[in-house]
Amino acid sequence: MNAPDRAAVRPMSEIDMSSWWMPFTANRQFKASPRIIAQARGMYYYTPDGREVVDASAGLWCVNAGHGRQEIVDAVAAQLGTLDYAPGFNMGHPVAFEFASKLVDIAPAAFDKVFFTNSGSESVDTALKIALAYHRARGDGHRTRLIGRERGYHGVGFGGISVGGMVANRRMFANSLLPHCDHLPHTHDPERNAFSRGLPEHGGAGFADELERLVALHGDTIAAVIIEPVACSTGALVPPKGYMERLRSICDKHGILLIFDEVITGFGRLGTPFASQYFGVEPDLFTTAKGITNGAVPLGAVFMKGTIHDALMTGPEPMIELFHGYTYSGHPVACAAGLATLDIYEREKLLTRGATLEQEWADALHSLRNCPNVVDIRNLGIIGAVELAPRDGKVGARAYDAMVAAFEAGVLMRYTGDTLAMSPPLILEGKHIDRIVETTRKVLASVA
Ligand code: PLP
Repeated sequence: MNAPDRAAVRPMSEIDMSSWWMPFTANRQFKASPRIIAQARGMYYYTPDGREVVDASAGLWCVNAGHGRQEIVDAVAAQLGTLDYAPGFNMGHPVAFEFASKLVDIAPAAFDKVFFTNSGSESVDTALKIALAYHRARGDGHRTRLIGRERGYHGVGFGGISVGGMVANRRMFANSLLPHCDHLPHTHDPERNAFSRGLPEHGGAGFADELERLVALHGDTIAAVIIEPVACSTGALVPPKGYMERLRSICDKHGILLIFDEVITGFGRLGTPFASQYFGVEPDLFTTAKGITNGAVPLGAVFMKGTIHDALMTGPEPMIELFHGYTYSGHPVACAAGLATLDIYEREKLLTRGATLEQEWADALHSLRNCPNVVDIRNLGIIGAVELAPRDGKVGARAYDAMVAAFEAGVLMRYTGDTLAMSPPLILEGKHIDRIVETTRKVLASVA
């Protein structure tokens, strides 16, 4: 793919940054020293002055097929010209039905229904509400408790932050979170599992057994447990072997629904279409967004087993079965982008490409082990994390400096706490892996 035409790019001097309150950003720090991305193609971003930056984070974990895909551009333009918008409440349109059918075709067989949202946060809140509604419909209305996990990230809706376990995201709203929530311990255990390749060996079943303690405490009031298969936003915390299996069996034993938040792991990130196929463990519902349209148009979807859906299809036919939905649920333009994205994924076998690259990716990442301040390296599929020792009294400062230095050296990566997190588009090749890892090596020396 060629670099994009620079004619359309506005110079930095013309950008007024005063009005946009940027999300999850230290606005004053950023605006004093901004990092601006003006264009994108394939594996690369370009700054306003035309500097090429390897995208080692697939945007925000979403551009799995790489940037600027012409098929998506064409599909969106054509859909805007055919049907720009149609309501989904009591009206239907062909593209949403077609996209839903295609989505369930790539999901494990039991997941034959999807509910459309516009984001990961909305997918999470939707899944939690469906879980509550399911129990109520079955006469188990006392099951109102939702269990998340420490260090979990499930977006920023009130449901998502209530089951989420990122302290900073909760602190400001602490008195207004949902009641009836509790949390499993996180599974990060560097004492036993540092520098694991893939799934760590130690502690999986033990961490999952903590759910038995919550059942003992809360009795039969638990409706659902929600976890990320890999806790990406707190530094790519990979669950130890046996964790998922044990969690599933405890949920089954106590009639608790298991929800996987696959907003990041969905659509090929682990080398399988969905994480449930990687782990060989199926949840009852799973949430998606991001890669569903290659990040091009906002869209999310909750997948569920037919049994969950059917439990709510029991009232009189004229009755709305679920009092929930969004103006843009199943938006035709978003669904058109999604259909074009699935075509690319299928044609280029991107949903399984991660499996063929996983070894090379892991070898390259783990070659950073002896760089200054590296205290752990984690990987799974095409996810990587390099954790650094914090500077005295300044948690996160070293990783922030590393992220800035990497961007200046031509690689975009994320940082969270003192961890550098990487998740490049699944079209990446060996030369990109080399550039990402060699740049990281130089950057780690520069922030020592
Ligand atoms: N769930 C998980 C696991 C995520 O990683 C994210 C975003 O990173 C979300 C939910 C929220 O998604 P969104 O930002 O689209 O609302």
